[in-house]
Amino acid sequence: MRSEFLPFSQPAINQDDIDGVVEVLKSGWITTGPKTAAFEKAFSEYLGAKYSVSLSSGTAGMHLTLMALELNPGDEVITPSMTWGSTINLLMILGLKPVFADIDRQTLMVTPESVRAVLSDKTKAIIPVHFAGAPVDLDPLRELASERGLILIEDAAHALGTRYRGEPIGKAGTAVFSFHPIKNITTGEGGMVVTDNEGLAEKVRILKFHGLAKDAWQRYSRNGKVQVEIIMPGLKYNLTDIQSSLGLTQLARVDELNAKRGELADIYDRQLAGIEGIIPTRAPEYPHQNSHHLYIVLLDLNQVTITRDQFLDELKKRNIGTGIHFRPVHTQDYYRAVEGYGRGLLPETEWVGDRLFSLPLFPFMAEQDVIDVADALREVLHEFRK
Ligand SMILES: *Cc1c(COP(=O)(O)O)cnc(C)c1O
Repeated sequence: MRSEFLPFSQPAINQDDIDGVVEVLKSGWITTGPKTAAFEKAFSEYLGAKYSVSLSSGTAGMHLTLMALELNPGDEVITPSMTWGSTINLLMILGLKPVFADIDRQTLMVTPESVRAVLSDKTKAIIPVHFAGAPVDLDPLRELASERGLILIEDAAHALGTRYRGEPIGKAGTAVFSFHPIKNITTGEGGMVVTDNEGLAEKVRILKFHGLAKDAWQRYSRNGKVQVEIIMPGLKYNLTDIQSSLGLTQLARVDELNAKRGELADIYDRQLAGIEGIIPTRAPEYPHQNSHHLYIVLLDLNQVTITRDQFLDELKKRNIGTGIHFRPVHTQDYYRAVEGYGRGLLPETEWVGDRLFSLPLFPFMAEQDVIDVADALREVLHEFRK
């Protein structure tokens, strides 16, 4: 057994990241400013996207995107339950109705068919999630959206560097990225709304800083106007220059960091291939490039005497950290009590939700770490085999 705890994730911070932050701290300007403008520009350039608007989190980005689209109370928004709860929470807060599309148990993503199955006259938007680094099947969803006049917002929190049929996620349409420390690049906390819709970008920009007219953050600088005007009620979701500096130095290495994740994922594939009791997930069949955000496997409950949660406790005893991405939102305490939700609603999502877990995967991991994980999996499976 390994002597040191292997965390499930760890940010890949290097000396460039540290030097950049120190430089900002010494510069006299630490909140939103030139570094943030540079980060947004670099982000658009990296994706080949039109507009990038930085925010204090991915959740903030989704919040403002939903606000900017001016949906009406009671409007239905189709999204998976196999996701982080933030999007569903926002829909509830905004008086919109989350309608869950079931997932494919091999790719863990919604399909054009599962989305179509829950369409109604009240459907106004679809928020698919690119999952674990793989892209959702965008073309049929884009077709469906244009055919029905629906808004498509991609949750791209797992998808920086992901490509769908050769096209970077975020290049076209509207996508929301996250820079939380477990994501493929981090700013500590942070997010980006990327869109080809100029009006939407402009509105998110205004909403993220009190609803003030353009460039209000400059008001205390030499170029700014001291007098500012509120043109709509907004929030305060701006990303600081301290964070944006991290974003810039991390983004400069994203391909390298993702390649390292990919190498580790390949080692996992080989190490886990023969392990009875671990069910691999499967890559989508359409052409794509995976950013390897997470390495998710399923526990075959037919082969063990313990639950997934107990299994993860056993791994922890052996110094292996894991994650669960995710517990289906519709089975969480609050949502269980909402009419129409709760267990039984989404068979595939629930089947996966009882079995899946994420193995440690981060760029600074070594090959031996992966081997240690595989050894620990074998050991626990052996001890608790049916
Ligand atoms: C991380 C994550 C988010 C939220 O991003 P934050 O920056 O933490 O607000 C949204 N959706 C998914 C699928 C995520 O994994």
